[in-house]
Amino acid sequence: MALVVQKYGGSSVADSERIKAVADHIAHTYRLGNQVVVVVSAMGRTTDDLIRLAKETSSVQPPREMDMLLSAGERISMALVCMALAERGISASSYTGSQAGIITDTVHGKAKILEVKGDRIRAALEAGAVPVVAGFQGVSTEKDVTTLGRGGSDTTAVALAAALRADACEIYTDVSGVFSADPRVVPESKRLKKISFEEMLEIAATGGKVLALRSVEFARNHHVPLHVRSSFTWEPGTWVVEEDPSMEQVVVSAITSDNSEAKITVAGVPDKPGIAAKLFRSLANHSINVDMIVQNTSRHGTTDISFTVPKDDLSTSLEVTNRLVPEISASDVLADTGIARVSVIGAGMKTHPGVTATVFETLAAAQINIEMISTSSIRISCVIRSDQAETAVRLLHQAFELSEN
Ligand code: ASP
Ligand code: MG
Repeated sequence: MALVVQKYGGSSVADSERIKAVADHIAHTYRLGNQVVVVVSAMGRTTDDLIRLAKETSSVQPPREMDMLLSAGERISMALVCMALAERGISASSYTGSQAGIITDTVHGKAKILEVKGDRIRAALEAGAVPVVAGFQGVSTEKDVTTLGRGGSDTTAVALAAALRADACEIYTDVSGVFSADPRVVPESKRLKKISFEEMLEIAATGGKVLALRSVEFARNHHVPLHVRSSFTWEPGTWVVEEDPSMEQVVVSAITSDNSEAKITVAGVPDKPGIAAKLFRSLANHSINVDMIVQNTSRHGTTDISFTVPKDDLSTSLEVTNRLVPEISASDVLADTGIARVSVIGAGMKTHPGVTATVFETLAAAQINIEMISTSSIRISCVIRSDQAETAVRLLHQAFELSEN
């Protein structure tokens, strides 16, 4: 007997037929003798619809009310899943994030989980029932309903799995696992059987959309094994687990691309200590997450600094940067939204030289110009023109021979 947390994403509970299929699977898992805790997302595009409704209704959306509104989506799915389980003879009860004891900080719209009490969930399990928990939400230390940010149900599931010391956390979605590249871009990409938390973190941070980044961080920090799989085919998917030193590491496991960032260049700044410090402190004060940074070698005492920020933060970043122009004596601030970041990820890179050279040669052979480069011990990222991103992903996938055969 095992304790499993099963999380079902929006597409998995999109309509009543899907909910019935999900209930069948939960019932099946339960009847095999497992304890099951279910976490659900809002049905289909409910969250997007609610956001649209809010915008249609008012030009101001107080964050507290926005969270109250959005948390309703998950309530609908949890009640319906419990009804479908009741029809299957399984005793199930639904719990909001607050009832489940998911305690968060007070930052509406992107609250962080501080503690998972889980008393009622444990009691339900002890009574032999299946608790069904609304994902993506909690209650703040000030007793207000909060949400965890888009895709936050993954984080709810992992946090519950950690608190309950579950044997595994299964993330059910509409794809059958983590792939060596986005299958829509590279049809011959393959499903990975197993991947380390570190690789998954890099994938989630560089445009892979299967798992929310924070849920992977949480899973790694709390040693929760994840199983990403499909609720449409129910076939075994991808395990995200601790790196196993006895395993032979593949050099490269996945290629990702991301066009959610924009590039800002601050031109003609004096090449002297303190300029970058001022610039990036101001951006940090506005909670802007700067990703890649490049500073050119100076000529005649001035230099250019380029960096990337999420497109959503571009206008704030430009305001902040432009305001600094007189203070840092820059000549110009330029914005570029036509970039994409292509990344090559693999734990084996640590011990295999030559991966970087292959990346550069592959892009060069296709006349793709590299504008910025950044690396970690298991990732190489290049900023290129966004209209060349898909070609780059396909060519790199080929160069590292990641296809099935
Ligand atoms: N329903 C929320 C969203 O669409 C949370 C989730 O699906 O994980 O972002
Ligand atoms: Mg989702």
